[in-house]
Amino acid sequence: MTKITFLGTSSSIPTKTRDNTSFILTHRNKYFLIDCPGSVSYKFLQLGLDFTKIKNIIITHHHPDHLYGIISLIHTQAFQNKILNIFSNNPSVKIIKKLVKLFDLDKSCYPLINYFNVYKKTFFIEIPGLKIQAIKNLHCSESFGIKVFTNKKSFFYSSDTSFSPTILKSAGNIDLIIHDCTASKSFFEKHPSLYKMHTCSLEHADYLKDKPNIKLIPIHFLYINKDEESKVKKELKKLKDRVIFVEDFDEINL
Ligand SMILES: [Zn+2]
Ligand SMILES: [Zn+2]
Repeated sequence: MTKITFLGTSSSIPTKTRDNTSFILTHRNKYFLIDCPGSVSYKFLQLGLDFTKIKNIIITHHHPDHLYGIISLIHTQAFQNKILNIFSNNPSVKIIKKLVKLFDLDKSCYPLINYFNVYKKTFFIEIPGLKIQAIKNLHCSESFGIKVFTNKKSFFYSSDTSFSPTILKSAGNIDLIIHDCTASKSFFEKHPSLYKMHTCSLEHADYLKDKPNIKLIPIHFLYINKDEESKVKKELKKLKDRVIFVEDFDEINL
């Protein structure tokens, strides 16, 4: 069985109920953690899961809201986990290596870290029933989204990105998109620099309206204005039940 559990659904600024975006992909009792903000170990405990069993982490880019929790995760795994595989790009690996050194997390009581560059192979993870491919996006240096293939379904997680039909087309046939949906179009129009790095809800509604087989999970919300959540929901309304609004700790079976 393969499932997704959301650990966070907000942008760099959390809300009372939403932490920075990250999720776990659980495949046949193996965890793949996608992005690592906040206290992942604490969230695992809240879900009744064993954080010492996290051995595979994918970091989609080097912004703090996607990787700052990694130091705490390594620290909490002292004496309890031997190996940690980090799949990422050059800018993120450079920062993680520096932080590991700075906090003395390269001692033998901590997991030994193996680094894998996601661009080196077509599928940077390939195990029975699961393949994961990096797809370059439009956000920052070497940033990427991931296309995940299971025996039953495939989905694309965009990570943070400017909206791009080309990226979505390069993801090929997909059943589900988990996509940056930072804010509403009206918010983006007040802050147009956001268009360079993120996606607004109306762009999704326009792109997906004539693609009835694709479901959307919007994520990475910037809800600093009180009415922003309802504006995003209104702009996505035309997609009807093809939009799945998730909260932190929600699960989706694939
Ligand atoms: Zn972000
Ligand atoms: Zn970012």
